[in-house]
Formats: sequence, C-alpha cells, structure tokens
Amino acid sequence: MHRLTGSSYLNPCLLRMVFLSAVLCTSWFAHTARAQVTRVSFSPRSDDAGIVVRLHTSSRVQAFAEAPSSDAENSFVITLFNTRLDPLRVTAPPLDPVTSYRLREDGGHTTIRLALDGNVVETSSYRDAGSTDILIGIRTQSPVDRARWVLDTIVIDPGHGGQDLGARGPHGEREKDIVLAVAKKLGAYLKQLPDVEVVFTRTTDTFVPLNERGRLANEAGGKLFVSLHANSAPDRRAQGTETFFVGMHKSDAARRVMERENEVIRFEEDASVYEQYSPGDLVRLQLAQSAYMRHSETLASEIQSQFRDRVGRRNRGVKQAGFYVLWSASMPAVLVELGFLSNSSEARFMASDEGQTYLASAIFRSIRAFKESYEKGIHD
Ligand SMILES: [Zn+2]
Repeated sequence: MHRLTGSSYLNPCLLRMVFLSAVLCTSWFAHTARAQVTRVSFSPRSDDAGIVVRLHTSSRVQAFAEAPSSDAENSFVITLFNTRLDPLRVTAPPLDPVTSYRLREDGGHTTIRLALDGNVVETSSYRDAGSTDILIGIRTQSPVDRARWVLDTIVIDPGHGGQDLGARGPHGEREKDIVLAVAKKLGAYLKQLPDVEVVFTRTTDTFVPLNERGRLANEAGGKLFVSLHANSAPDRRAQGTETFFVGMHKSDAARRVMERENEVIRFEEDASVYEQYSPGDLVRLQLAQSAYMRHSETLASEIQSQFRDRVGRRNRGVKQAGFYVLWSASMPAVLVELGFLSNSSEARFMASDEGQTYLASAIFRSIRAFKESYEKGIHD
C-alpha cells in the first residue's frame, strides 16, 4: 500500500491497445485540430497529503495512458495521444514530491515524465470534470502517516517469570532466566539507535499475565512487539530456532509450541479472561493482527536469517500460530524461540553469556534492518 503499485501503470499490452485505439481515433478525428498542452501547473492537495499536477489542454484529449517506465519507483510517465506541445506553453516549477519534469513531443504524441522523491504512496491520472485538462494525483504519506511509520518504541517481552519457570534444561537452565538475559542485552543494543525507546514487559523475575503484556505494549505506544522464549521437545535431538507470528497454526508442531506457551495462563489468577478466545474470537483477533501480519512475517524471516547466517543456528523456519501474547498487541509482533532447552548443547549455548550475546545481537540486527525498511514503507 505504501509504495507505488504496478497497477497504477498500464501494462505494455494494454498500452498498445490504448495506443491502437488512439491511432484509430486519430484517423477518425483527423479533421479536428490536435489538442495542445498549453500549461503545466502544480497545486497541493487539500488534505496536505500530496499534490495535483494539472496538464492544461486547449481541447479534449482523445486518449491518454500511463506508461510503464524502467525506473517505475521514482518516476511517473503519461502520454497524451494525438496532442502537441504549445510553443507558448507555460511551465511552473515543480512542487514536492515532484523533483523535476520533462515534456516531450514525439510522433504526434506528448509525453510528460515526472521525477518523484521517495515519499510517494500512490499516483493516478484522470480527466478533470470541469475542463479538458488531464490531472495527475500524487499522494504522499501525510504527516500523521509519517509519524505512525516511525518505529520509535520497541517492546521487548521476556516470556514467563516468577512462579512460571517456562521450559527447563538438563543442567537446570530455566527459560525465564535465559529470555530475561537476552532481553536485557537486546534492549541495550536497541537503545543505541537514535530516537528509539525500549519498553520491557518485565525486567525482573516476576510473573506478568499474557494479556497484561499486550496491554502494557499498547499503552506504551509500542510500534513493535518482540516476545522471547525458549523451546522444549520430548525428542532431545530437536534443535534450532523458530520465529512465530500470529495466525492459524498450519502444523501440529506449531500447535504444540503454541499450546505450551499459552499454557502459562494456569499461573494466572483470572484465567477466565481467555475463555473469550473461542474459535470465532480467534478469527476476530487474527483480523485485528492481520493489518500487521505482513510486517510481522517480514521481521520473523529476517530474525531467522540472522540466526542461521550469523549465529549458526538451525533454521526451523517462520511459523504461524495463535499465541495469546501476540494477539493482545496492536502492532507488528513476533514470538522468538531461541532454541531447545531440551537439547543439551543448545541449553548450554543459551545459558552462556556468549550465546546470549550472539542471539541478542542477531535479533538486534534484524530489528534494525526491519526498522529501516518499515519506515521507508517499501518492503513487501
Ligand atoms: Zn516460553
């Protein structure tokens, strides 16, 4: 949505059809004078989210088409068929986000190419209702949107805590301790980024109910929610990292992780709050998170790549499951399983200061990369 979409350009095939019909029109209307482009002017949109470019014409333009351009991200090209440039045309200086523009007459058609800065969300061309002019609407991120797209508050959620120990390792390692240590290292890295505020759902060995974690994140104005956990499996050979985002679990393995992590509600005084999560509510909550799903998935896969490439972890992939803790956060949200505490060597690695540093810095690099692309609004 926040990028120039290919759909705002006619595909070459369609363009040929438009061209053909324009040629037909040309012979049909050969006796009429060709419309002239007399003036180009720029005006801000009334909602302050972009501009309108007006191509003033002396009479009705029979056909026009947006053209695919080689650098589609940064320019907008439109051809007005069977028109010519008025030698006495008036051209105005461009207005942001148009950085420059060019008019060209070629083969009986006029082409206008607008160079755009990176802030453009959408472009469209249409006929003006009250004149023969052709208008080009260029929408940019509004100041409000821009503020919304700054990823300035990051919520780190170390899973479990207090009486809820989480998974256990063979040498007494405890999930709640490991994830808190990694969370603190990650937070220290993130605080080095300019203008980033880090919010923790817990900084001590305390128990925080799952829905309370999401509420804390929302109240803090969080823009990203990262929940840290460690895995466990009956098969002690199981190893590797996996990162989840909210959705319907697609495998039994994903469901088992979800059930295990959701199970902590047994420690909560009022577990009845989760009874609202009937299958129908699951769909409702999923919809609430779905606005962020694409971003969550992007971050999840970035984290998995970093774990694999920079920490040498086995990549178990990006998965979807219905975690209570992710549902409650109204922002892109992921749940990271740092490794298997049931696996002896992974338990040692996760409990070591070095292992925790590696894991935290991998997540940090992922968030930093995600933040950059998120704020540009350009990633898929
Ligand atoms: Zn956990």
